[in-house]
Amino acid sequence: MENCLFCKIVNGEIDSETVYNDDNLIAIKDVNPQAPTHLLIIPKKHFATLMDIEDSDKELMGSVCTVAKFLAEENNLETSGFRLVLNCGSGAGQSVFHIHFHLLGGRPMKWPPG
Ligand code: AMP
Ligand code: ZN
Repeated sequence: MENCLFCKIVNGEIDSETVYNDDNLIAIKDVNPQAPTHLLIIPKKHFATLMDIEDSDKELMGSVCTVAKFLAEENNLETSGFRLVLNCGSGAGQSVFHIHFHLLGGRPMKWPPG
């Protein structure tokens, strides 16, 4: 997808601090971290929002959870807890229209989120 920031990160056109990479997903450090650990888990396939996924993407989307678990362990967040967040649509705070999951941890989290 042309002019998509995260497609450019996925294909290496734009640099990022990559912490995980497999055939289907990449995880990077967020440039503007909102917690001591703030990672973005990004499917390599372009979907603008969660509303664009289909039944055939179930396995891919499920793999986000196993990668989140792996990264939580790597960042010692199993006991303290962490949050996995997807903002869908500008009303929910989505600013980059290529699906991504925020993994946030390392500080106390409040509920409900703002
Ligand atoms: P959202 O508002 O849910 O769409 O999240 C977009 C996230 O992408 C924000 O937390 C930004 O700080 C982050 N972000 C924007 N540009 C970059 C970049 N070049 N590298 C890493 N993270 C970025
Ligand atoms: Zn994209």
